[in-house]
Amino acid sequence: MFAVHLLAFYFTKLKEDQIKKVDRYLYHLRLSDDTLRDVMARFQAEMVKGLGRDTNPTAAVKMLPSFVRSLPDGSEKGDFLAVDLGGSQFRALQVKVSQDGKQSCQLESKYYPTPKEVIQGSGAELFDYIAGCLLDFMESKNLKYKKLPLGFTFSFPCRQTKLEEGVLLSWTKHFKARGVQGTDVVSSLRKALEKHKASFGIDVDVLALVNDTVGTMMTCGYEDQRCEVGLIIGTGTNACYMEEMRHIDLVEGDEGRMCVNTEWGAFGDDGSLEDIRTEFDREIDQGSLNPGKQLFEKMISSLHLGELVRLILLKMTKEGLLFNGKVSTALCTKGKIEMKHVAAMEKYKEGLSNTKEILTELNLFPSEEDCIAVQHVCTIVSFRSANLCAAALAAILTRLKENKRVLRLRTTVGIDGTLYKTHPQYAKRLHKVVRRLVPTCDVRFLLSTSGSTRGAAMVTAVARRLAEQRKRIDAILAPFRLAPATLREVRDKMRMELERGLRRDTQGTATVKMLPTYVCGTPDGTEKGKFLALDLGGTNFRVLLVKIRSGRRKSVRMYNKIFAIPLEIMQGTGEELFDHIVQCIAEFLEYMGIKGARLPLGFTFSFPCRQASIDKGTLVGWTKGFKATDCEGEDVVDMLREAIKRRNEFDLDIVALVNDTVGTMMTCGYEDPKCEIGLIAGTGSNVCYMEDMKNIEIVEGNEGKMCINTEWGGFGDNGCIDSIRTEYDKEVDEGSLNPGKQRYEKMTSGMYLGEIVRQILIDLTRQGLLFRGQISESLRKRGIFETKFLSQIESDRLALLQVRRILQQLGLDGTCEDSIVVKEVCGAVSTRAARLCGAGLAAVVEKRRQSQGAEHLEVTIGVDGTLYKLHPHFSRVLQETVKELAPQCDVTFMLSEDGSGKGAALITAVAKRLRNVGEN
Ligand code: ADP
Ligand code: MG
Repeated sequence: MFAVHLLAFYFTKLKEDQIKKVDRYLYHLRLSDDTLRDVMARFQAEMVKGLGRDTNPTAAVKMLPSFVRSLPDGSEKGDFLAVDLGGSQFRALQVKVSQDGKQSCQLESKYYPTPKEVIQGSGAELFDYIAGCLLDFMESKNLKYKKLPLGFTFSFPCRQTKLEEGVLLSWTKHFKARGVQGTDVVSSLRKALEKHKASFGIDVDVLALVNDTVGTMMTCGYEDQRCEVGLIIGTGTNACYMEEMRHIDLVEGDEGRMCVNTEWGAFGDDGSLEDIRTEFDREIDQGSLNPGKQLFEKMISSLHLGELVRLILLKMTKEGLLFNGKVSTALCTKGKIEMKHVAAMEKYKEGLSNTKEILTELNLFPSEEDCIAVQHVCTIVSFRSANLCAAALAAILTRLKENKRVLRLRTTVGIDGTLYKTHPQYAKRLHKVVRRLVPTCDVRFLLSTSGSTRGAAMVTAVARRLAEQRKRIDAILAPFRLAPATLREVRDKMRMELERGLRRDTQGTATVKMLPTYVCGTPDGTEKGKFLALDLGGTNFRVLLVKIRSGRRKSVRMYNKIFAIPLEIMQGTGEELFDHIVQCIAEFLEYMGIKGARLPLGFTFSFPCRQASIDKGTLVGWTKGFKATDCEGEDVVDMLREAIKRRNEFDLDIVALVNDTVGTMMTCGYEDPKCEIGLIAGTGSNVCYMEDMKNIEIVEGNEGKMCINTEWGGFGDNGCIDSIRTEYDKEVDEGSLNPGKQRYEKMTSGMYLGEIVRQILIDLTRQGLLFRGQISESLRKRGIFETKFLSQIESDRLALLQVRRILQQLGLDGTCEDSIVVKEVCGAVSTRAARLCGAGLAAVVEKRRQSQGAEHLEVTIGVDGTLYKLHPHFSRVLQETVKELAPQCDVTFMLSEDGSGKGAALITAVAKRLRNVGEN
């Protein structure tokens, strides 16, 4: 018993002594957590440098964009080929991706050797060899006569400008074929395959060039959607991760994410790791194929691990610290200790006996102490490798966490590589250190079971899926992208309808009503007094008190109050509507303390009215969201007067009934005498303009001008623009309060744009192109997609993540890719609206120019409406279209800041002045 204890004690003591000895000797290879944190910080800085446009050329870590933007979503399907060059063996692979929800991949694969003559010979030979292997694979698997897409895993740094192209920056690891650096490896492979195509009848289509890290990430991403990092620790070492596009200076565009291949093996090539590198690292580097390059990789990867151990043992022996100072020829021979030996020596149980065996095979005569010491050398070298990897990975995880602005990051790292897979302790050590360095990340390490090659097939599959989806989305949105010729047609048709509405014989059937307003002049500045104005628009009701001063101290002062109109009033009875209006007026008069005064009143009423004079107008038909009963065909001024009488509390002198377009034109005309057109782009869409009396057949007299309220929203109600209406427009029309009516308005105004977008989104989802094909409850709800969301989503200042959040608030939960598509849909709908509106305006201004017989027309358009004011692109596109379609007109757009209420007051003032003149 005692003897056993003594022996155990002796052995423990012996082990401790040996370990202490090696620890002392190799203290420089043992990195503290502080040092690792320092390395981590350095690598974070390197990443930033590599991503920046100006700093990239001198950056050691190249941060290469991979042009892989999307992870597999499980809907990929088909047969794919993949080849993998860059590891210890060349591999050809067939992947069958089936879309049965089980996300299964069937694999057929074959390995081929990569002899030194091939990988260090000429480039042409290398690619011929690859093509030859592929041919052999296809023959042996009976794939020869299929046309298959191929993904090319190529584990070397390549500068890519698209997925299917990559210029080799430099060879790494043990590769060094001549004439390949600086050339596109995809076209070289294609060329080599082309030769075989002629002689053997194979037809493959190289669709994607994929780094092995990217392939690994994609392989794991198919299993675990959270996977956003790919890591290789094998013959070489490298990592990739999903970076925000807005941080990648070298690639156009700010939306979404793209996988960046860090090429971290080159970390330290600019000298930034000199304090950590040891004499052994320098020796390894000097004897390598690429001295001075891949310095980080040379401290980590399996290609160098055994050699590092050998150099350390050699030096220790020469100094008499091992094997009684006796070296062997084998120990002096480069490459005699390999990674597999290191792994065997570090095995938990058999480690020591393995060590003895391996050392004996190197013709050394190891004692018990020697074996313990050598084993510890292996531990220190491989532990350093894991430590360094962990530090760089921790830097990437921190960056992901910062990009996502979360307090805790949950993520998955896909890993491949023989060192990580076969070394007995490596994985465990790596995980532990990473968790210690970034305690705020919950990391899942997922071993890539079938290697990176399958990932290349996945990238190819995703690329093909995206290309197909893109084609279908483009096809759906194509009808919204109106060609210039189509817009000119719209302009010409609008012009015809404007004419038809003015002529006595056609006016009855015209869809553009061209209603005379009896407003015959713009203000001349002599107007003055106190007026009341009402503004009943699409959404709100406003009551205003307007004080106008004339002469030298000309000014307009306004006081107003906004009242909401509840839906049940908008769609109740006419009496209820007008009683509600009078109720609001009463509140306002009370509030202003002017109930006793019988003020002159202008009534802005934004619906089509056929007027016989300035203060009379029968409602032609409700539009937008109104549908109160017993109003159509009635005189709305009378209805208002009767409601005032019913209330019997105050009296008002209703002087003018004014359309909102006219009010807007007047408001702007007060500032700019050239303003002869009024445009509304809000809930609805409409235009008025000053027309020569001689052109207005339906009103007596040929002298002077009168403002015509076009009511152009009804354009197309006779089917004349049905060729550009889409099924979505028809859907929106059918769900509206006035089916078949206001067809042009329904393509151009705020009340309908969001609804059109919703219809498209439903269709895209139904076709499986959005929201994973799931039509949510919210998407079914009419009206949830308001036009204000178009404005928000299309804003250039908004990052994609914010777009996604807006959609989430609407109950539309999708991926970032979904957000990109939604944004595109919004853009297509609002752009079409602006272009159509522009085409209509072009018809109006051209008509004015021609009727004045002018070569050139200078005119101002007064504009109001929230769509025009708040949408980020609508006004610009509208203006550009007018310029394009009416090049002889010089059009100024003037925003009406004060709304149409001020205009109503001005009209009232003018009308009252004229009435007084008449009475006198
Ligand atoms: P009116 O109802 O008199 O036309 P507005 O000109 O204010 O009043 O237009 C209101 C309409 O503008 C809303 O019904 C909605 O369709 C649209 N809208 C509201 N907010 C926005 C926005 N942020 N961007 C674009 N359109 C909007
Ligand atoms: Mg309005």
